[in-house]
Amino acid sequence: MPRPILLTVSRAALSHNLDTVYKYLNNGGTTPSFNSPSVWAVIKANAYGHGIEHAVVAFNRADGLAMLDIEEAIRCRQAGWQGPILLLEGFFEPADLPVLAEYNITAAIHCNAQLSMLEQAVLAKPINIFLKLNTGMNRLGYMPSEYKEAWQYASRLQQANKIDVLGKMTHFSRADDDLEVTMQQKQLFLDVTKNMPGPISICNSAATLNQQVWANIDPELKQWVRPGICLYGSSPFADRSAASLGLTGAQTLSAKLLSTREVPDGSSIGYGHQFTASGTTRMGVVACGYADGYPRMAGTGTPITVAGVRTRVLGRVSMDMLVADLTNIPHAQAGSEVILWGDGGPSIDEVAACAQTIGYELMCAVTPRVPRRIV
Ligand SMILES: *Cc1c(COP(=O)(O)O)cnc(C)c1O
Repeated sequence: MPRPILLTVSRAALSHNLDTVYKYLNNGGTTPSFNSPSVWAVIKANAYGHGIEHAVVAFNRADGLAMLDIEEAIRCRQAGWQGPILLLEGFFEPADLPVLAEYNITAAIHCNAQLSMLEQAVLAKPINIFLKLNTGMNRLGYMPSEYKEAWQYASRLQQANKIDVLGKMTHFSRADDDLEVTMQQKQLFLDVTKNMPGPISICNSAATLNQQVWANIDPELKQWVRPGICLYGSSPFADRSAASLGLTGAQTLSAKLLSTREVPDGSSIGYGHQFTASGTTRMGVVACGYADGYPRMAGTGTPITVAGVRTRVLGRVSMDMLVADLTNIPHAQAGSEVILWGDGGPSIDEVAACAQTIGYELMCAVTPRVPRRIV
């Protein structure tokens, strides 16, 4: 018998969340209008931990798929995806370029080293690119002062038949929590890229779902949005739940109770004795620990559902086990179902908040030893 822990991925939830994004883009309507923005469904990091192949099926209505690794891009083609594919960091070495041409993969370009690789490459056909402007994230992308020259360089490569479509992109750093900063980034993008034709992609999940931001983005910039986290049913906002945005969690981490016991008043539990019982306390040991990807930082008080009842974690999470409070769950026994997060339990964002992190990190971090089931 395998250890009783399971990650369940719901394709229906993934599809539902993509539909929800389309509804936001179409002001509540279900049918896209001719000028509604297109969606790059972001499936980097193995579809945020959910599995690329499942994401390709669940997101078959997306206009394009965006990711980081060329290997992931090839897996999408092998799984039958024929639509556009965008590599968010572009390519890394000259050997990547013939692969991009062969599989018809679009590349984000953020530096001249990449353009020079493209200049020197001998390609069967030109590739599509999005030239990335750094508007304040200060991670990847050309500085505003460098962008025009980079654009001219790319335009020459377009004339030389190395580039087919030449687009423009940037990435917001605070679309979840700061309208002013986001509007400055947006304005800088507009100013720097004006009179440069081509497709545009600027909005991540937060910018797409934050109504204040979205309402203030010029219509001509709403061409390709790049939502990631919301497609997996987690909220990009610290102060708004996924459910309130119409999103459904796409992954459920569940396990079983290995044993239960009653400890007398004053007993302490787990490594470091971080929790001490006041009064007789019934507790259960859950077959899930940090080696499964459950965050060790989630200590006493983190929500957890046992036998259908919401309760809390007690003491420190260990490598393979954690302890749940069963004081008010007399029917819980060894073998009872435990939901760490997801359907029937706390949301992944609630658990993440207790561990001082975000849903993104938890969903990517479930480890390979946890069996997976797709529904
Ligand atoms: C990860 C990523 C996204 C998606 O971000 P979410 O916050 O998950 O919506 C969009 N664009 C780029 C460049 C990214 O790296």
